[in-house]
Amino acid sequence: MVVGALNCLLFSPLRIGYYAAMTEKDNFEHTHHHDHSHDHDHSRLDETAVRVRALESLLVDKGYVDAAALDALIENCETRIGPRNGAQVVARAWTDAKFRKWLLEDGTAAIASLGFSGRQGEHMKVVENTPELHNMVVCTLCSCYPWPVLGLPPTWYKSAPYRSRAVREPVAVLQEFGVELPAEKLIRVWDSTAEMRYMVLPEQPAGTESLSESELASLVTRDSMIGTGLPLASVQK
Ligand code: FE
Repeated sequence: MVVGALNCLLFSPLRIGYYAAMTEKDNFEHTHHHDHSHDHDHSRLDETAVRVRALESLLVDKGYVDAAALDALIENCETRIGPRNGAQVVARAWTDAKFRKWLLEDGTAAIASLGFSGRQGEHMKVVENTPELHNMVVCTLCSCYPWPVLGLPPTWYKSAPYRSRAVREPVAVLQEFGVELPAEKLIRVWDSTAEMRYMVLPEQPAGTESLSESELASLVTRDSMIGTGLPLASVQK
């Protein structure tokens, strides 16, 4: 538990830095569209952004963090990691039984074979949805999340209500996400930690057997890999 908390604390300044950069960018764009004067201050950063900026300045000034490295990290999060990576993993598992078996046995290695590895994805476990079982992922302690396959976690994933309610009342939470499961289906909730990150392998929607791997990937949503959603075609049927 302690290690888990430490890990997240260690990485959170970078993560918050990303959001701060976004906030700053939004402020900039917002300011640009307004020539008129009115009484609120567009240049004001929110409390978190101010703290992040102060922290970042200190770390850069003291030489603990290279500003260019921080930029590279943000660029990486924006352009190279994200849920489309996870969707490719799922689509491969749906079309290649051997890969699927490997993915369930050794998620880290199978995912890395598609080029997705690195920080926050060092130890991956893929859990498979079946007609009898639905899996759902949470980090009750903080916000542990498999970055290489899913990108940065959505705000709700980090929120206290999701973190507590996913465990206490998963059926109600799923309903709020628009997921209605048959009453007899088992729901298993996995608690992510710094040591192990989980990804859900959703069930392949019926009637999609003839689709190509890339067509299948387009059906795989981020939420379906967290377990708070289903692949697109299964929602539409
Ligand atoms: Fe966490």
